[in-house]
Amino acid sequence: MKIQSSLIAAAAAIFSVSCLIALAQEKAPEPRVVVLDPGHGGRYIPGKTDGTQRGDGSSWNNTKSPKKGILEKDLTLEYALEIKKAFEASARAKGLNIKVVLTRYEDKHMSALSRAAVAVQQSADVFISLHFNASGSHRAHGTKVFISSEKHPYWEYVNFNNPYAKEDRAFAHQLADAVAGALEPFGGDPENRYVHGDSKGDGGFFKDGLRMLGYARQDSHLYQAVMNLIEIEFIDNPRVESWLLSEETRPLARKAVALSMVDAICDHFENFTPPSAPRKARY
Ligand SMILES: [Zn+2]
Repeated sequence: MKIQSSLIAAAAAIFSVSCLIALAQEKAPEPRVVVLDPGHGGRYIPGKTDGTQRGDGSSWNNTKSPKKGILEKDLTLEYALEIKKAFEASARAKGLNIKVVLTRYEDKHMSALSRAAVAVQQSADVFISLHFNASGSHRAHGTKVFISSEKHPYWEYVNFNNPYAKEDRAFAHQLADAVAGALEPFGGDPENRYVHGDSKGDGGFFKDGLRMLGYARQDSHLYQAVMNLIEIEFIDNPRVESWLLSEETRPLARKAVALSMVDAICDHFENFTPPSAPRKARY
């Protein structure tokens, strides 16, 4: 009897160990996380194009299309949801096990810090803030991608140095190429695409969205992430409005941009060699 019960106990122990091994083998790998931030939201605050307006991450240059009055904050959410949908439909993204999270799913105000916190909480591998641009002349056009620059002189009492500017810049070029290319059949001009974020800059480092990227960059556990802010097009330009936001082209252009972003992000995951350890910011 004694022998029998010890045999049963031994068998149970082997069974539970083999169960644990099987469970460990079956555990799905962690997905790679893409956090999309639909810029702005909540109360509409018209932007100033002279760079003097300061806000909390949801105000600078919240632009509006001239004829239809389409608001940037609505378009950024519309695009973010389309990109999420495109990821969910993409066999390639499924194979790469990519999960997409938005910082907001409705028209609500969020500060720069709370947007960055979503990227931090989700341990984002890619963090992209989506925006549409405007200019003083209302005649500018093209796609611009911004990064948090390597050496920010200052941003409201905080130094937002970015030791990952090289990786962010490389991804910014991929993103700018993909999105500007996707918009070309509709009327976009891929020659007119730029990546900004050098410390010489063009006023780019005063954008609120860059403050948000700066906040996220302060969390060193995201050292394998890339972070960009994209201004997809200038929607205050009547010519851009006519080819980007007509009843016919609005859903088609949105879908083309979404597919191009899925491709750019999948390319990134397939080819990117992330830093092997966190880097120290140089002040
Ligand atoms: Zn914006």
